[in-house]
Amino acid sequence: MTDHVLVAVAWPYANAEIHVGNLTGSYLPADIFARYNRLRGRNVLMVSGSDAHGTPITVRADAENTTPLEVYQRFHEGFLDLFQQIGLHYDLFTSTHTANHFQVSQDIFLALKQNGYLFTDRTFQWFAPSQNRFLPDRYVEGTCYICGYPNARSDQCDKCGNLLEPQKLIDPRSRIDNSTPELRETEHYYLDLGKLQDEVVEFLRDRESYWRPNVLRQSLGQILTEGLRGRPITRDLDWGIPVPIDGWTGKCLYVWFEAVIGYLSASIEWAKINGQEEAWRDWWHDPQARSYYFIGKDNIPFHAVIWPAQLIGTGKTFDELLGSQPAENLVLPYDVPANEFMNLEGQKISGSRNWAVFARDFLTRYDPDPLRYYLTVMMPETRDADWDWEDFYKRNNDELVATWGNLANRVLAFTYKNFEGKVPEPGELTDLDRALLAAVEGGFETVARELEAVHLRAALGEAMRLASEVNRYLDQTAPWTALKIDRQAAARAVYVALRAIDSLKILFAPFLPFTSEKLHGFFAYEGKLFGTQSTEIRSDPLGEHNVLRYNGETATGRWEPSQLKPGSPLNQPGPLFKKLDVKIVEEERARLGKPA
Ligand SMILES: [Zn+2]
Repeated sequence: MTDHVLVAVAWPYANAEIHVGNLTGSYLPADIFARYNRLRGRNVLMVSGSDAHGTPITVRADAENTTPLEVYQRFHEGFLDLFQQIGLHYDLFTSTHTANHFQVSQDIFLALKQNGYLFTDRTFQWFAPSQNRFLPDRYVEGTCYICGYPNARSDQCDKCGNLLEPQKLIDPRSRIDNSTPELRETEHYYLDLGKLQDEVVEFLRDRESYWRPNVLRQSLGQILTEGLRGRPITRDLDWGIPVPIDGWTGKCLYVWFEAVIGYLSASIEWAKINGQEEAWRDWWHDPQARSYYFIGKDNIPFHAVIWPAQLIGTGKTFDELLGSQPAENLVLPYDVPANEFMNLEGQKISGSRNWAVFARDFLTRYDPDPLRYYLTVMMPETRDADWDWEDFYKRNNDELVATWGNLANRVLAFTYKNFEGKVPEPGELTDLDRALLAAVEGGFETVARELEAVHLRAALGEAMRLASEVNRYLDQTAPWTALKIDRQAAARAVYVALRAIDSLKILFAPFLPFTSEKLHGFFAYEGKLFGTQSTEIRSDPLGEHNVLRYNGETATGRWEPSQLKPGSPLNQPGPLFKKLDVKIVEEERARLGKPA
């Protein structure tokens, strides 16, 4: 098996703050998986960026009387700040508003056109004579012709829930200036998905044995019942990537079409930044390379059906356009482990109603690892989950602090104080000692098995179970009382527990990187488990964009059992986690749904 692993992470829309539901849906699982694979010594490339285009951003810019560029840049900077605070180790987090992404997207468009997978068709679209421009459907409101609701969107009525035919809307008006829009004929490019259906079905059948049922249902299942039809990939909008065809000014590539191309363009940008222009090919041309797409369930059709169709339709032509000899196909997704949604205290999360736990706000009051812990144990891998503040409080105190944090702190502090700050000589190990070490070291197989299958909840649960085993071992050996009666027995128990904790540190590291790193320091090892993050301003013909990068060159962490040597010095230890006061439950609940 090749050791190239592409970790492709959903691109956040740069028009809203990231909340805990976004984190547990895609960004956090991607980082856990990437960190694990890096510890295995594999060549990981984790890429994503801000989705800078599309109408949600132009709507917000119009509402705030500013430009889409300003809106995108403001939220993009917030994402970079958050990802560093919570330790999401993107090899590159960039944006779709870069000259490189424009070029790659336009080349994919041209490749699909050249291969006969695009066609044009004429439709009717709202046009505002007052502004001399086409309006997206959601910019136009009117009276619903089914139920009479006066504030229906032109494509859907929020009152009766029906999808509407825009031309039947009564008294249409523009949400921008209340002027009366008219329907005008317009021409667009369509991706001919029907032509690609057989190959997409074959692609999905090849993965049927290991994909999540919810992903298969929304991809293979849907195609087999409904089939695939052409889908427009351009629109009348000036904020976005221009359609690279003469006479098509004023139209741009639809955001759903170009944002997924970001996985490829970001890989190419990463290679350029590193001065190894061709390095991206290791993840995109080697058929053995594995690409994992971490997304929320609302994005399944785009990643499990449409993006593979774009890649299949592109074939070798993208590489030919780059002038490569010989030209290669692009690698198709290996897995799309999409998550379901997380609710908040029993209700759907809504950023606009402030019914949300925003990640950056959370981190002003709490540490990152407790958030990563709770979002992993509650991760909506198979069904919707619920963030509950009382549950957060309990799991922090009863699991993270009581089972793991106290274990590490108690043993390290006891050793530091009673064995001259060094790992003691154990003498001959007993069967009980060897059994504990074998159980914990078995975690490098059992936890790994779950991680390989992207069962992150189960993987963390298994690591926590092993921590409980060490607690049970300490209950039996009780070095704290043995110390005065039989110092050698106490030394042996402490040595065994330290070695187990040193192994657990690695098993927990993908999930709890900040505290594992801290613990690594208490053991006085040289070097860090993981590398470092930094931001960097890049310039191109479109202007400047700030990117987040990861440098793993200095990382020394390995997915291997502890080889702790007796006599090794320890550093002064301290607690890994904070116990929370029960009053935070009511305080945090009182914040919900109030204006920020
Ligand atoms: Zn209606």
